[in-house]
Amino acid sequence: MDRLELQKLRELPIEGVAERLGLQVSRHKCLCPFHADNHPSLSFKVSKNTYRCFVCGASGGTIDLVMRHLNLDFKAACRWLQTLSGSPCLGGEDDPTQSTQKGLFLCTATQRESPACTFDATRYERFFERPWLLPEARKFLFEERQLDPRVVRWCRLTSWKDKQGVAWLQIPYYNKEGQLVGIQNRNLVKGALPRFRFPQGSQCGIYNLPVLNLLKPGEQLFITEGCSDCWAMLSAGHKAIAIPSATLLTNDVRGKMEEVRCKFAIQFHMYPDRDAPGERLFLQLQKVLSSLVHHQLPPDCKDFSDLYLSTITKTKTQNG
Ligand SMILES: [Zn+2]
Repeated sequence: MDRLELQKLRELPIEGVAERLGLQVSRHKCLCPFHADNHPSLSFKVSKNTYRCFVCGASGGTIDLVMRHLNLDFKAACRWLQTLSGSPCLGGEDDPTQSTQKGLFLCTATQRESPACTFDATRYERFFERPWLLPEARKFLFEERQLDPRVVRWCRLTSWKDKQGVAWLQIPYYNKEGQLVGIQNRNLVKGALPRFRFPQGSQCGIYNLPVLNLLKPGEQLFITEGCSDCWAMLSAGHKAIAIPSATLLTNDVRGKMEEVRCKFAIQFHMYPDRDAPGERLFLQLQKVLSSLVHHQLPPDCKDFSDLYLSTITKTKTQNG
């Protein structure tokens, strides 16, 4: 990452970053997440784009805040901030060279409802009627991820190349009624940035909601973090939905999960990622789904995709 890119991450509005981390900022202050705080002692200096806690002394800029709060190293924190640029309402779909960071914090929850940020499904629906998998997409899905082709078809994954020749996997998000509500584009070039792009107004909340229509009472539903784990879960023969891969459950996702719990008499299961954010997400979700069953990944697997891949490899070795 070059200096300019870093500078951009440092200049992201710090209060916006804090909110993305789940901190409730009011009047440039919030409860300090770094000590047991019950009265807001962490304050933001907007002019300098920094934070400081007057009790425990924690201080720094956007990157430090993310590193400390999510327990990430410098690189991972930068990546987290960059991934944020794949938030809804970024636009930029037609012009990949446009920096998308700026749009990130402009689109607050209320603005998202405004017409300017509405997702135009009619513009994109046709892409998913006849999915097309480029060699890059096939390699990623079938060789690297070893996914079941039926899952790829069910999810209507497709792919495209932008003007620069970069291959993108296009992941449609549908609501339970099967209407297209958002699209996530995933960069198929390893390590390339941005990793994700979202057409304007995309509502990429809970993934694979149509699976709910197939659930019988008492059946198991797995909840994964992000759609790749969801594909692995489906390929392993489970029913699954994914919540956005973030450390924080947004109110919107929380509300929707509550709805699912009320409407369906099913069991909820989860393999949290083997890290602190994964466990945190499990605990947050458990507050909504009190009967959520915790499954432990083996020590050599950081997420369910790893476990799925290791199981597949073992089966193949046994059979061949
Ligand atoms: Zn503090």
